[in-house]
Amino acid sequence: MRKKNVIGVKNLKLYQKNPEKVRFTSRVKSVREKEDCDLVTLEESWFYPEGGGQPHDEGTINGKKVLDVFVEEGEMYHKLSAYSGLTLHMPVDCVIEEKVRWDYSVQHTAQHVLTAVLSDQHGVNTVSFHMGAVHATIDTDRSVTWETLKEVEGKVNDLIREDLKVLAYYRDAYSLKDLPLRKAVSVEEDIRIIQIGQLDYCGCGGTHVESLKDLRLFKVIQVENYKGGSRIYYKAGDRAFRHLDEEEEILSLLKEELEVNLDALPFHVRRLKEEKEEYKKTAEVFSRRLAEEMVKGYQEDVVVLALEEEDDFLKTLGAEMMKKNKIGVFYREDGRVFVFTGKRTSAKLLLSGLKEEFRFRGGGGDTMVQGFIELAEERKPFVSKLYDRLLSLEL
Ligand SMILES: [Zn+2]
Repeated sequence: MRKKNVIGVKNLKLYQKNPEKVRFTSRVKSVREKEDCDLVTLEESWFYPEGGGQPHDEGTINGKKVLDVFVEEGEMYHKLSAYSGLTLHMPVDCVIEEKVRWDYSVQHTAQHVLTAVLSDQHGVNTVSFHMGAVHATIDTDRSVTWETLKEVEGKVNDLIREDLKVLAYYRDAYSLKDLPLRKAVSVEEDIRIIQIGQLDYCGCGGTHVESLKDLRLFKVIQVENYKGGSRIYYKAGDRAFRHLDEEEEILSLLKEELEVNLDALPFHVRRLKEEKEEYKKTAEVFSRRLAEEMVKGYQEDVVVLALEEEDDFLKTLGAEMMKKNKIGVFYREDGRVFVFTGKRTSAKLLLSGLKEEFRFRGGGGDTMVQGFIELAEERKPFVSKLYDRLLSLEL
């Protein structure tokens, strides 16, 4: 039945007719030499051209790497690096990278099943599908929770265990009525139908595996909000197993690093976070006390000092200065400057004009300004100018 239909189809894409064909010979039909590449057409090609969310096949033509395969105005172009050496009518040996084709076929077939389960059991429709060397994603019209996706994942794995068959056959528009197509098709004839058991009927031109057992394992990896719906990341087959291996490796490292068992890991990490918060609070208390003591030690009302301390501490110190109604200018070797004036005078006004005179990047308000002097040679003149201005103020 399947074979009879295939023979009747005109202009058939060869990768659809013989998906198992990954080595073939052909002749060069045309070569278009461009600045940085050669675009080659062949008398016959079993390469899969990019389309429908699925990337193009990888492989070689006479040993030269095929960089892209695409269809334009009814011709299939194979992109190779410039000076490919291919000439008109030249016989060529072509190799399609079998592993890559298989991987894409696995991810693509998994997408059909994922889309079908989401739609049939949760009323969520797939809007688009993207696949690359690392990620395969679908975008949905409604947002889906992680819990729902774990349920869906279980159902997809059940269907893999049931080993539904994946059929490919051709229909014309008038003979489509008996098929429960998931989505209307836009072409009139030679419509390629992909049927997965009784689960899914789709018009599709991509490559697929022949039965669901080839998917082996399905994992939803991640979900994020996307355009009012969700973007769902998934992996099937070897990708899914590799993902589990990677996670296992990361967990082993964590277990070793933290010296705890797997089941104790979440509690241990939570405790670490809590401890960190406590240490942070304690550190803040000590910083404030240190700042208080330092401010007590300053005899003058206006203090201009080079201090090699972190931003947070300089801010704490500044806050203490302002509390005691003192003015503080603190600067560091790296060009960082803090000016605390509190209510004594306007920090913004104090610095007015200096931004233009020196390369000072920063900002603030009336009580405090912070910034950065880019050029090392401008740092000292900037600070002395600021000091002069402070002295001339009648505070
Ligand atoms: Zn498909």
